[in-house]
Amino acid sequence: MIRSVRSLTLLGATGSIGKSTLDVVARHPDRFRIHALTAHRNSERLISLCLRIAPRFAVVEGGDAAREVQRVFRAEGCRTEVLEGLQGLLQVATDPESDTVVAGIVGGAGLLPTLAAVQAGKRVLLANKEPLVMAGSLFMDAVRENGAELLPLDSEHNAVFQCLPGNFSRDGLTELGVRRILLTASGGPFRDLPVETLSAVTPDQACAHPNWSMGRKISVDSATMMNKGLELIEACRLFGLPGSRVEVVVHPQSVIHSMVEYVDGSVLAQLGNPDMRTPIAHALDYPARIESGVEPLDLFRVGRLDFQAADQDRFPCLRLAYEALAEGGGACIALNAANEVAVDAFLQGRLGFTDIAGLIADTVEGFGACPVSSVDDVLLADREARRLAGSLLDALVGGHA
Ligand code: NDP
Repeated sequence: MIRSVRSLTLLGATGSIGKSTLDVVARHPDRFRIHALTAHRNSERLISLCLRIAPRFAVVEGGDAAREVQRVFRAEGCRTEVLEGLQGLLQVATDPESDTVVAGIVGGAGLLPTLAAVQAGKRVLLANKEPLVMAGSLFMDAVRENGAELLPLDSEHNAVFQCLPGNFSRDGLTELGVRRILLTASGGPFRDLPVETLSAVTPDQACAHPNWSMGRKISVDSATMMNKGLELIEACRLFGLPGSRVEVVVHPQSVIHSMVEYVDGSVLAQLGNPDMRTPIAHALDYPARIESGVEPLDLFRVGRLDFQAADQDRFPCLRLAYEALAEGGGACIALNAANEVAVDAFLQGRLGFTDIAGLIADTVEGFGACPVSSVDDVLLADREARRLAGSLLDALVGGHA
């Protein structure tokens, strides 16, 4: 069968997901063409990618970053057109010349471009979980109404996707005999550290994940287990199950990427080396399977697979995510916004590791309930929650300044 060449827009090309995606794509020059690459401020990396790949468009934040990219392109005779800021992101996310959008921006900044790609009916490969946490049912309704194809890149959700029958519908998992989703978690770098030492851990320690190589924000999220909390919410939204039917299982080897338990007692798992190129390759050419460059899994070297329950006292962020999911309304938006503010403050050395959960809890509690029935409501709630988290942060760290 001859398959048409896919034309890709890569949102967040300069990040970790961007790097892994470009690695897989480079192995299949006959299958994929890069239409657009986007960055935020890392103009140096964007320039080097564009000089090598020559996409039709490059997007970068306006101002100095954009001027620098344009200057180098002119000097090098590179014909890639430079677009700026959110307008540029929206343009490339919806461009009819591209059929597939990889959502690899970090945080809530990915919401509007990713949603725009969905509304344009694209195949969307979703790594950026925060939009789904923030806009939940609005996002999933947009997928259905616009005939978009949403394929999860997060390794856990991609694993669940692979363990479900090919024709599953998000409203029909119970009819298919699915009892639960078992979401695996490595437990991050601090799984076995004495709890009383956690308050002193540094950003570099938090970013040194034992199994996965990722961007700094998601690495800190993994260390607090808020990443698993966001993934729990993501799983409920993607697969249409309540939080009570998604269990987090700590599995330190990160070889099983998640499991689906059926009513007959079967548990299906997807295994592989912890390398994002596997889920990326799976989704890029789905349903075809393509080489990803990932080493075959050597089960004899792995030797054993361990499992334990997630300790919500050690990792209060996970409990906060379950609670926000149950509360609904704006609670998940506040959770996500406060987490972004707290992680940023931790990475800047302004907030201690164990204060992250407290700041999130206080923000969600102070934010209260709010109706969310449109994207404008989401954006407003996000802004308000960030403002509240920012002022709580100032009050908290002001005393230490
Ligand atoms: P990185 O920090 O490595 O990369 C983030 C990308 O987003 C960069 O290209 C960055 O540009 C861009 N970006 C940052 N802020 C903005 C903004 N305001 N507007 C536009 N673009 C922006 O993150 P990761 O690749 O690790 O993660 C990306 C997403 O994928 C996250 O949501 C994460 O949770 C999810 N994910 C990541 C996994 C991984 O293995 N890394 C695994 C599963 C999910 P610049 O470089 O210019 O700052």
